[in-house]
Amino acid sequence: MLKIYIPNNNIAERKYVLDTVFGEFLGTDYKLIIDNGELIIDNWVIELENGNKLIIEDHFFNKFPKDLEYLKEENIPKNVEFAKNRFAPEEDIPIIYGTNKPETKNQKPKTITCGIDIFASIFFMLTRWEEYAKKNRDKHERFPAAASLAHKFNFLHRPVVNEYLEMLKNMLFELDFNQKLKTRNYKLTLTHDVDHILAWDTPKKFLMRLGGDIIKKRANFADIVKTVFDYFKVLGKRAKDPFDTFDYIMDLSDKIGVKSHFFFMGRGQTKYDNDYFSGSKKAKAVAKKIKERGHLIGIHPTYNAYNDFEQFKREKEELEKNFETEIKFGREHYLRFEIPKTWQIWEDNGMEWDSTLSYAEEDGFRCGVCYEFRVFNFLTRKHLKLKEKPLVFMDATGIEKFSPKQMQEALFKLIGQVERYNGEAVILWHNSNYNTIKWRNYKKVYEALIEYHSVKKLRA
Ligand SMILES: [Zn+2]
Repeated sequence: MLKIYIPNNNIAERKYVLDTVFGEFLGTDYKLIIDNGELIIDNWVIELENGNKLIIEDHFFNKFPKDLEYLKEENIPKNVEFAKNRFAPEEDIPIIYGTNKPETKNQKPKTITCGIDIFASIFFMLTRWEEYAKKNRDKHERFPAAASLAHKFNFLHRPVVNEYLEMLKNMLFELDFNQKLKTRNYKLTLTHDVDHILAWDTPKKFLMRLGGDIIKKRANFADIVKTVFDYFKVLGKRAKDPFDTFDYIMDLSDKIGVKSHFFFMGRGQTKYDNDYFSGSKKAKAVAKKIKERGHLIGIHPTYNAYNDFEQFKREKEELEKNFETEIKFGREHYLRFEIPKTWQIWEDNGMEWDSTLSYAEEDGFRCGVCYEFRVFNFLTRKHLKLKEKPLVFMDATGIEKFSPKQMQEALFKLIGQVERYNGEAVILWHNSNYNTIKWRNYKKVYEALIEYHSVKKLRA
């Protein structure tokens, strides 16, 4: 078994990152040895069974020996350098904390010293303490992508935590590490936030939506005519409402053997909520069909629920009652999230996983990782049971700036990166974003995603 020696400070934080890296990600046991004052350990020292050593220099926690002393904006790096490193899996590697000086001493025992503090860097990305330390917020009170270190130094589109893990493995192998590590397979996870169930359940909604498309100059004359025709077809029950895409989505998911996760909303408090009621006949019928077909139901907490325990609880109970199912996972509406409070609310409501963490305005790896992981409440210093399954791609993020072709390229680029690290590609495509004037040209991007996985499945 590996032995890992750590300095006697920030124990909860160090233990969290080591448990996550070795336990959860790599799947190997280790024995933790905390410096009792006699060892004079001032780095992360990993001792292999064969006696060889990997020393990860400490460039962060030792500077802040008192509990929570690190948690300040001034301790976020001012600069991130990209260095070449022979153990890194890509051309270069961003250094969040540390310096670039890997060095092998060919003596017995063999030792590698790594100047990049990969553990403090991983802790930075996974816990998102950056978002607590910085007070930047957008009009929906969200931490903006543009304020993040990853955006500023252009590594938001790289799963940098996965890169560090790969680097760590390569260094261990160089030291003749021979324990078995967890094997991982690429996985596609399809999710659908249900902000609306029907587009045209009242004539007023029909007129409002069409009016919106005309005002925003999305609809030409032919679109308007077609939409009016379609509306009458829906009224005469000869066609489905444009948002009623549940069967279409499940048919495609079935084709590739993947379960779709549908996240429904309870009763909210703001104008951003309440387009449907979970107790309505239609909502219940949709939920029943999803269950019958073996697909999954989760929660899409309303606009104000992200930082309100009671509101979250009411909505979860409402959905469980109306849909006669247990609610264990989901994603916040508008991707509203307050770290670490929202995670704690999910934990305290007995949830298994959240999949909110991507940025609303830019796709990429907000937590730097394409694996699910158990989260850390850095204020209470507790390792929670709750898992975060970081969202990798959301339909709405690209629509304003991308043509369908560009959106498809962006999506497949991200998929490629997740495949490279055998991670989990969590995709969000709203049920309301297929058959409208705004979206119908983008539907083929979703279908290309399914087609790609259908071919992949045949090859496997
Ligand atoms: Zn939503």
